[in-house]
Amino acid sequence: MSELKNVVIVGASAAGAQVAHQLEKTLPSTHRIVLIEANNFAYWPIGALRASVKAGFENEIFASYDNFFPADSRHIILTGYKVASISAQSVKLDKQAPAPFNSDEIQVDIGVIATGSKYAYPMRPSSQSLEESVESLRKLQKDIEQAKNVVILGAGPVGIEMSGEIRAVYPDKKITIIERGPRILNGFREALHNNLLNQLKKKKIEIKFNTSVEVTDDLQSSAQKLLNEPLKLSLSDGSTIETDFLFIGTGGSPNVSAVPQEALSEATAGVKGSRAPVKRVGVDQGTLRVQYEPLKERWFCLGDASNSNDSKTNIAATAHAPIVASQVVGQAGNTKKGVKQHTKALNAISVPLGPDGGATQVIWPVFGEWVTSLGKGKGLLLNLFTPIYPGGQPLKK
Ligand SMILES: Cc1cc2nc3c(=O)[nH]c(=O)nc-3n(C[C@H](O)[C@H](O)[C@H](O)COP(=O)(O)OP(=O)(O)OC[C@H]3O[C@@H](n4cnc5c(N)ncnc54)[C@H](O)[C@@H]3O)c2cc1C
Repeated sequence: MSELKNVVIVGASAAGAQVAHQLEKTLPSTHRIVLIEANNFAYWPIGALRASVKAGFENEIFASYDNFFPADSRHIILTGYKVASISAQSVKLDKQAPAPFNSDEIQVDIGVIATGSKYAYPMRPSSQSLEESVESLRKLQKDIEQAKNVVILGAGPVGIEMSGEIRAVYPDKKITIIERGPRILNGFREALHNNLLNQLKKKKIEIKFNTSVEVTDDLQSSAQKLLNEPLKLSLSDGSTIETDFLFIGTGGSPNVSAVPQEALSEATAGVKGSRAPVKRVGVDQGTLRVQYEPLKERWFCLGDASNSNDSKTNIAATAHAPIVASQVVGQAGNTKKGVKQHTKALNAISVPLGPDGGATQVIWPVFGEWVTSLGKGKGLLLNLFTPIYPGGQPLKK
């Protein structure tokens, strides 16, 4: 066992878990997978907004890492372990790993970075513990139920989708979206903006464009919870607005603190919808191999953490997984046979407004409620989540 070489994968969400399953079938017997995940459960961000509003839906978005690999497998999954730092030939953990490692440092023969994005809760879980994360969502549902006057900051996909989830459960609650730019979903087609704007009007969700609110630390700490004393927000147009439930729906950022800073760089082109350039792990666009010289020999990166020229979506993570798996197998077996190159993931965005509304852009065409509902809104793509985790959904047992 100790002579096996380690293929270390950091992160076991959409990107890392899919690479691991593909490698299970193809990795030479000289190597084993060591899959390391900070949380003790898998989380489905795509269902998180509905789980914040609709009682019972929280049961759908958690999965267990039990039996991720069969009991007799040589592969190892470590959950509840955070990789604190990544270097050329090892990873350092936040605590000592059990046997066979008995150390907080694990040797890396080939490594895969799949650490994704950081988002505020509820787009990511509130805690590494399942119980606490579920409780936070249930509390959020109760807070939203009691709120009279919801204000959402940001008309990106998260803010817009959240407004639709609240309206689907509460037909009469006052909902206002504040957006600093002139459009919904900056970076996508005007037809998508128009389609969503018409639906928001019909649903009596108010939206103020070209208006901003300064997001201070104090304001952050008042967000995503019911406020006993209504908060008076000062808007950039000089007006004020009162709210007893503020939801900050502004975007996420890459989760790359374990990676050496020198390995990070901006995406070069083609990423729709991002407001400001952010640094992610610089990769070769074909092989998804990390470009930073000291990590280049052994490390790959995929999904939201990589600076691939793709939107940061599950679609992209799913397209990257077979490429990285084939590259790892090629390197492990010292062969170029079967090794694949990445070209481009499908560029699509789908923003439901509750189970029956919303709009979708796939490359260029824009589709409305019907397509969005069938394609995403009704089931929130849970059919892509549950098959990855054979341990099932702990809250549904
Ligand atoms: C509300 C919402 C709706 C969305 N809708 C869609 C959609 O309709 N279609 C679509 O394609 N995409 C959608 N997305 C985007 C999609 O969820 C992400 O692109 C996808 O989750 C990226 O997967 P990932 O594995 O790269 O990263 P993540 O999902 O961020 O996972 C990273 C994993 O790594 C772990 N990790 C991080 N750092 C460490 C560390 N140091 N040590 C150990 N573990 C670590 C984390 O705990 C996490 O499990 C949506 C996102 C949100 C928030």
